[in-house]
Amino acid sequence: MKTPIRNIVIAGGGTAGWMTAAAFSKLLGKKFNITLVESDEIGTIGVGEATIPTLHIFHRLLGIDEQDFMKSTHATFKLGISFEGWLNGSDQYLHSFGFLGQDCWACDFHHFWKKGLGLGIEQAIGDYCAEHLAAREGRFSVNSQSDQNHAYHLDASLYAQFLRDLSERHGVTRREGKINEVVLCPTTGEISSLKLESGESIEGDFFIDCTGFKALLLRKALHVGFENWSDFLPCDRAIAVQSNLLNEPVPFTRAIAHPFGWQWQIPLQSRVGNGIVFCSQHISEDEAASVLRENIVGEPITEPNRIFFQTGLSKKHWQKNCAAVGLSGGFIEPLESTAIHLIQRSIIHLLQLIPRDKTMSSLSREFNTRIRREMEDVRDFIILHYKSTAREDSAFWRYCKSMDAPQSLTDKVNLFRESGMIFKKEEELFAVASWVQVLLGQGHRPSSYHPIVDLMTENELRSFLEKQRTRVSEKVKSWPNVNDFIKNYCC
Ligand SMILES: Cc1cc2nc3c(=O)[nH]c(=O)nc-3n(C[C@H](O)[C@H](O)[C@H](O)COP(=O)(O)OP(=O)(O)OC[C@H]3O[C@@H](n4cnc5c(N)ncnc54)[C@H](O)[C@@H]3O)c2cc1C
Repeated sequence: MKTPIRNIVIAGGGTAGWMTAAAFSKLLGKKFNITLVESDEIGTIGVGEATIPTLHIFHRLLGIDEQDFMKSTHATFKLGISFEGWLNGSDQYLHSFGFLGQDCWACDFHHFWKKGLGLGIEQAIGDYCAEHLAAREGRFSVNSQSDQNHAYHLDASLYAQFLRDLSERHGVTRREGKINEVVLCPTTGEISSLKLESGESIEGDFFIDCTGFKALLLRKALHVGFENWSDFLPCDRAIAVQSNLLNEPVPFTRAIAHPFGWQWQIPLQSRVGNGIVFCSQHISEDEAASVLRENIVGEPITEPNRIFFQTGLSKKHWQKNCAAVGLSGGFIEPLESTAIHLIQRSIIHLLQLIPRDKTMSSLSREFNTRIRREMEDVRDFIILHYKSTAREDSAFWRYCKSMDAPQSLTDKVNLFRESGMIFKKEEELFAVASWVQVLLGQGHRPSSYHPIVDLMTENELRSFLEKQRTRVSEKVKSWPNVNDFIKNYCC
């Protein structure tokens, strides 16, 4: 007999758990009873404070007002990421969220820029992008007509609280307590309930595993295996610490390379999030902690939070009557702030594919295929930053430079170097502009440009490029200082 899905249980109340609860309750709450279990004693991972622009899609779907959200989470605007020292130790480039100049049907704008370089128009590619220029100049503006891309730096605990309020308003029941046992049905092998330390039992038809790296349901109870990607992405530890705010927040995340990994700085309205990501084969935890202490701006206001992680993904993200969302499904290190985006993608796929009864196994296959594809695309983009280094000053960077890359990435880099072409797959997260900025920043140069560019005379090309640059600089000049804007908008 077919059992309809009525009761959905979300295990875990970190960013993944509460994003899932908020989306399900707001969008399908009338159809399902939703319960979320979380343990105050265990708490959440406490990091995950830089986002990418796709979060707007999620917020729009949930009817979240930007000013309200930013006030509640002490958020600032983020226009990109500044990569410092990734190519040779003393370089800097910005991966901004914007588009790079006007393209045409045959090729993207950077082909025109490339020819311009050959003519002595030595303008940085970022000068053709409003978000890039605005990040450098510390300017920002948004209104109903704006077309620029922006993301946020936010306080992860406040964001979980914000989503919890929203979820509870839409009928989610929260249970506090430690899950002691995941009870399986002896005949089907499906999850039938979660048993809490208090003895309470929470029964459900469908379970969403948001228990973080523990993956209590999917990996521990249902024995789904893990595919390890640490050969490509060798960092496996992080230490995070918050510090007080000394300077005006900059509208970008800083990702500063060190001889054994890298360090982040994420400025919020009220404090700075700092952390160091490193490879334990190349530095001890205590040494990494001391490098972090020496390199943070301001005084630490929290104890260091030491985090162990493994890069890779669950071999399946949906098994029997359980799907994973968040760290329980896998993790790619936070260099491009992609984890919250992947949570959001899992939720959207799950909302589309939610089974009507327990027998629908083709839905789970589709879910597993989609998540793997999206995670592999993100993985390739992150590997690019490591693999394309010219650094040889440490064993860590020598390893990264010489390691094998996935064939999909090698093909993409070769295509760009040979022809300047980049093709974005339909569902791929990173746009051509992102690939171009990081490829150039990491030292790759296309050796040619598309022949259509030669249809412009030299004077036409000069005036085209000039017009693009002027449009961008005039637009950005009209925007106020980003921190003045925040004070009026959402302080
Ligand atoms: C170093 C680092 C930096 C990161 N930076 C970024 C970033 O800048 N941007 C970004 O997008 N992402 C980032 N991430 C990822 C981001 O932190 C996570 O994707 C996000 O916080 C979601 O985590 P989660 O909810 O899956 O897990 P968690 O926050 O760990 O939540 C797990 C939940 O499960 C509960 N739980 C666990 N066991 C039990 C139990 N036995 N009983 C009851 N409840 C239980 C916990 O109490 C908690 O509520 C980063 C990750 C790391 C490791």
